[in-house]
Formats: sequence, structure tokens, C-alpha cells
Amino acid sequence: MEKHPEKHTPFFVVLEALQESDGCALCQLEAQAVHQYLDTLLYENVTNAGVRRKLVRSRGFCHRHACEVLAFSKGLGTGLIYQDQLRVFLRFLGGIDRRPEGLFPASAPGRWGRHAECPACRIQEESRRRYVRVLARSLGEAEMTKAFEDSAGLCVPHFLLVWQAARGVKLRQRIREAQQAKMSGLLKELEEFCRKQDYRFKDEPFGAEANSWIRAVRMMVGWEATGLV
Ligand SMILES: [Zn+2]
Ligand SMILES: [Zn+2]
Repeated sequence: MEKHPEKHTPFFVVLEALQESDGCALCQLEAQAVHQYLDTLLYENVTNAGVRRKLVRSRGFCHRHACEVLAFSKGLGTGLIYQDQLRVFLRFLGGIDRRPEGLFPASAPGRWGRHAECPACRIQEESRRRYVRVLARSLGEAEMTKAFEDSAGLCVPHFLLVWQAARGVKLRQRIREAQQAKMSGLLKELEEFCRKQDYRFKDEPFGAEANSWIRAVRMMVGWEATGLV
């Protein structure tokens, strides 16, 4: 019998991410949500006229998510989307000389720029809202608390959101203490890593702290770029 029949529920999604992620669990969940969205878009939804119209309004994707689209190496799906983008900009170029008032901002119809949010950013924000709320609400439960305390800790942007969303002085204190422990541990590793850069200690082999400088950057700004900082 399955250990958790409700495993698909957001509670267990967050629990499992905390238990399995080697970085910020919420960053991982957001990255998964965006990856899933782009995967479905590039493989299935790209021929949907409504989807394509929305992508025209958003001018495709923001820079960060456009780079992620390229990483799929899905030439046809990407080509169909950006065929639209090129056509729209060519139409815009046709009238550019008649726009002495300026080309930006996008809020004015007819000017260049986004007329809708990057759809991948929207998916990421929805995922963020959902999982921050779930984590903040369920951190009082023993199973989630333990998973949080045993996890790699949240990145700073996600920690601040969860702390803010948590209700009750005791719960906030507990979240803060767990985060402090994670960050203090990482700081010690980073200090050790930097110490070993000194020529006097160069013969000491690196341990787990070898990649602490990468984990420190990820902890401060988000494991995947969160768009929050
Ligand atoms: Zn994060
Ligand atoms: Zn985006």
C-alpha cells in the first residue's frame, strides 16, 4: 500500500521537495513548474491559435525564460513561436518612422514592448504563491517541520516570503531558527573554503565545502533564478 495516498497533494509535493532537494525546495518546485509548462507548450500547445496569440501579446518570453526555451533544443516549436515574433516586429518596423513620440513603453498600444506578462513568469509566480502558502501553513506539522529542519534550507527570497506568510510568533521563530542554522552552517563551510585558498594551507584537501561558494550565491538569490531579487 502506498505510504501517502494523498501524495499528489501540494502538502506532499512540498514535503518531498524538502526531503529530496539539495538546494531550496521552493526554487526547485518553481523550476519544475516552468519546465513542465515549456515542455508541454513546445511539444503540444504550440499549434494552438489562442496560445500563439497570447505569446504575441507577451512578445514571447522574458530573457531568462527565452534562454530556457533554447535549452529544450526544440527547433520546430520554438521556430513557430519566434516566426510570429519576427512578423510582429517587422509590422512594427513598417510604421516606426511615424512614431516620433517614442517607441516605449509597451502600455501604449502600437508601441513596442510587452503587452502581457511573460507566460513562463506567470506560471512561476502561480507556483510560488501556491507552495509558499502550503509551506507556511504546514510548518507547524511535525512531518513538515522535520523535513524543513533536515533540508538544505530555503534561499533568502523564498525564506522571506515563507516567514512573512507564517502565522504566529512561535512558528515564525521556528522557521527563523531553522534558517539561521542552515545559513550559519553554510557560512562556516564558506570560511573554510576561503581559508584553504591561502597558500599556507594549499595541501589540505577540499571536503564538502568545495562548492560552498556556489551554494552561497544560490542561497542569496535563489537556486534557479527566482525573479524575486
Ligand atoms: Zn528558493
Ligand atoms: Zn519569464
